[in-house]
Amino acid sequence: GYCRFRNPYHNNLHAADVAQTVHHVLCQTGLMHWLTDLEIFATLVAALIHDYEHTGTTNNFHVMSGSDTAMLYNDRAVLENHHISAAFRVLKDDDCNILQNLSRDEYRELRTLIIDMVLATDMSFHFQQLKNMKNLLTLAEPNVEKSKALSLVLHCCDISHPAKKWDLHHKWTMLLLEEFFRQGDLERDLGLPFSPLCDRNNTLVAESQIGFIEFIVEPSMAVCADMLEVILAPIAPIANNNNNSLSSKAISSSTNDDANTLNVPEEASCEAIVCEAAEEKSSSAGTEKPTSMPTRFKIKKPWITCLAENKKIWKEQAVKGE
Ligand code: 5GP
Ligand code: MN
Repeated sequence: GYCRFRNPYHNNLHAADVAQTVHHVLCQTGLMHWLTDLEIFATLVAALIHDYEHTGTTNNFHVMSGSDTAMLYNDRAVLENHHISAAFRVLKDDDCNILQNLSRDEYRELRTLIIDMVLATDMSFHFQQLKNMKNLLTLAEPNVEKSKALSLVLHCCDISHPAKKWDLHHKWTMLLLEEFFRQGDLERDLGLPFSPLCDRNNTLVAESQIGFIEFIVEPSMAVCADMLEVILAPIAPIANNNNNSLSSKAISSSTNDDANTLNVPEEASCEAIVCEAAEEKSSSAGTEKPTSMPTRFKIKKPWITCLAENKKIWKEQAVKGE
């Protein structure tokens, strides 16, 4: 399904990239210790299917061109609804049903989680999603719902290439831009107005990427980091343990899904979580820190330097007019 439309960007490589990034976050932050095996499974499956059968065109294009999919989903989260629906249809096939050993209740829970997570990858929910989470984190005792937390993690991973090394970020950018330009070619042929970034003759790539990083990616990563610090603070000794791989969790939690009852290794290392005051500085690019948050609990934020470096390179390119 990911190869059907031969998209430069929205193909199986993007799905694998987002799944790998989600896996990295679950392991490196220790978030997996907050989750049941079913929730981890749902998150990884959601990442894998989140752009399934993407048409290489945007929701706006579906709506403006009155596509069958837009008609089916009444112009709301058109692609995201399709990704979920088409993927679950595949899972009905006996040869593909990786969910067949789940109980009825497990299946219902997993399906609800996946639907919530994938629908939240629709960029039109982006600002509301961030605002809701920010507001929640300002409360004295924030109670972050699993589905809301995992949706934000998936959304961040989906837009995470600007938070990785330049070579990767540059490659993904060129692939996405080529996909946008092909949509622009279609729009021109159909007599439709160009969607933003879709006119191959009039798009300022460097400038638009600086905007995307500053207004979308940086705030998302900052809120997500604040959220993870709130969630992980109460289970810090577990999240800090040096067996942060999903396979080690599989062994340690095989008889019990409750994160609070996991065995904590006697000598927990601080590989994943840094609790030093010096780390405080690195969150300056982030949002206001909720006053209720434990001040000494911090996760590593390796993306901050990548975002800054990538922005700098785009700025140099913008000056040169490249
Ligand atoms: P996806 O379609 O992959 O599920 O959702 C991510 C969306 O984020 C993309 O469709 C695209 O709109 C936006 N996006 C991802 N990377 C970039 C980027 O490098 N630049 C811009 N302008 N938008 C991006
Ligand atoms: Mn995606």
